[in-house]
Amino acid sequence: MITPPKLRNDCFALPPGVDWVPLDQALERLADRVEPVVAVSEQGIADVVGRVLAEQVSAARANPPAANSAVDGYGFAGPAPVGPVQMPVIEGRAAAGAPFDGVVPRGCAIRVLTGAILPEGVDTVILQEDVNREGNAIAFNGPLKAGANTRLAGEDVTTGTPLFQTGRRLQPQDIALLAATGISSVRVFDRLRVGVLSTGDEIVPAGSIAPDNMPAGAIYDSNRPMLLALLSELGFEPVDLGHAADSRAALRERLEGAIGKADAILTSGGVSTGDEDHVSALLTEEGRIDTWRIAVKPGRPLALGLWQGVPVFGLPGNPVAALVCTLIFGRPALGRMAGENWKAPVGFTVPAAFSKNKKPGRREFLRARMNDEGAVEVFGSEGSGRISGLSWADGLVEIGDAAQTIRPGDMVRYIPYASFR
Ligand code: AMP
Ligand code: MG
Repeated sequence: MITPPKLRNDCFALPPGVDWVPLDQALERLADRVEPVVAVSEQGIADVVGRVLAEQVSAARANPPAANSAVDGYGFAGPAPVGPVQMPVIEGRAAAGAPFDGVVPRGCAIRVLTGAILPEGVDTVILQEDVNREGNAIAFNGPLKAGANTRLAGEDVTTGTPLFQTGRRLQPQDIALLAATGISSVRVFDRLRVGVLSTGDEIVPAGSIAPDNMPAGAIYDSNRPMLLALLSELGFEPVDLGHAADSRAALRERLEGAIGKADAILTSGGVSTGDEDHVSALLTEEGRIDTWRIAVKPGRPLALGLWQGVPVFGLPGNPVAALVCTLIFGRPALGRMAGENWKAPVGFTVPAAFSKNKKPGRREFLRARMNDEGAVEVFGSEGSGRISGLSWADGLVEIGDAAQTIRPGDMVRYIPYASFR
C-alpha cells in the first residue's frame, strides 16, 4: 500500500535543511550580478523620452538666462514705500522677446509684460491689476519689496549645473529642462530588447482558436500579451518569442531563435521540478540555471539562467505570480541591464482596510487598491490564477517578512503599479 504524503497547510514551509533567501538579500544579489549590456549612441532630445542617459549632462545655458518679469505690470527701481505712490511712466515698453534698450530713470516706471527682460534701472514690478493708470502716470499702494514679481537670472539653473546623472530614464519634463538649458542631443543607451516566451502544452495563443472550439484543458496565453505590454510601458523593447509546447526540442528552438534578437528573455511556466518543467531541465543541461528559493509569495519558483550568454528569467506560470515577479525582480534587473540605476519602487505607508494572517519569514505581495477613506483594500482571493484581481487592483500591498497578523488600521506599505515605471 502506498501511503499518501502528509498534507501541509502551507506549501511554503521550509523544507528541512534548505536555506531560503530573504527577498532583500535576493534583490541585493541580483543587483550585484547585472550590469548594462546595451550600446550607447547620441540622440536628439525629441527622440529620448523613456531612454536611459549614458552620460552626465550639465546646463549649457542658465534658466532663466536673464532677469525678467514674472507678471504683466509696470517696472521701476524698488522698493516702494508704505502708502500711496505716484510715478511717471516713460515712453516704450519691455515685452518677452522685445527688450527695451534704454535706461529707466530713478522714480520712473515702464510698461513691462511677463517674460520681458528687466530694462536697466528696473528691478521690481507692480502688477497691472494693482495700478491705476491715467495718461502717462500710475498710482498704487505701497509697500513693495525690491525684486517683487521678478525672476533672477539663473535662479532655476545656472550655466554648468549638473542636470542629470548617468542612469536616469528621461521623463517628458526632463526634455523641457534639457531644451531650456541649451542641450539638443544626449548620449543614451539603446533600448534593451526583452524576449517573452510562454510555455505549456495547454497554452493557446489568444485569437488563434475561437472559445467554442478550444480543446478540453486548453487555456489562452495571458502571460505573453501581458508581459509584452508591460515591457513596452516600462521603456524596454518587447520581443515576442511566441509559445513553446512542453518539449525540450520546442523550447530549444524558441530559445535559439531569440539569440541576436533579445538582450534578455522572460519565460513563464515550466520552472518547477514537475515532469513538464522543461525550462529548468533544458537550461540545466544546456545552459546555466540557478533556482532561487526566495522567501516571497507569490513568486515561487523563480529561476535565473543563462542561455548562450543571454540572461533568462524563468517566471512562474501563474499570471499573478508572473506579474508580481516581473515587477519585483524583472523590472529593476532589466532596468539595470538597460543602463538605469537599480531602482526600488516608491511605496506609501497607509492604513490597512483588511485583516490577514501570515507565516513569518517571507514577504507577501497582495493585489490592492486604495479606497475613498485613504485606506488600502486587498482583493478577496489570493489565488495565483485570479487574473481579474490584477485588474481590480491598482497596486500591491507589501507585507514584511516578520509580520504575522494585519488588522484594519495597521499601517502597511502600498505600492501603486505606477511606482514600478
Ligand atoms: P507551470 O509553472 O508551467 O506549471 O504553470 C503554472 C500554472 O500557470 C498552470 O496552471 C498553467 O496552466 C498556468 N500558465 C502557465 N503559463 C501560462 C500563460 N502563458 N498564460 C496563462 N496561464 C499560464
Ligand atoms: Mg507548464
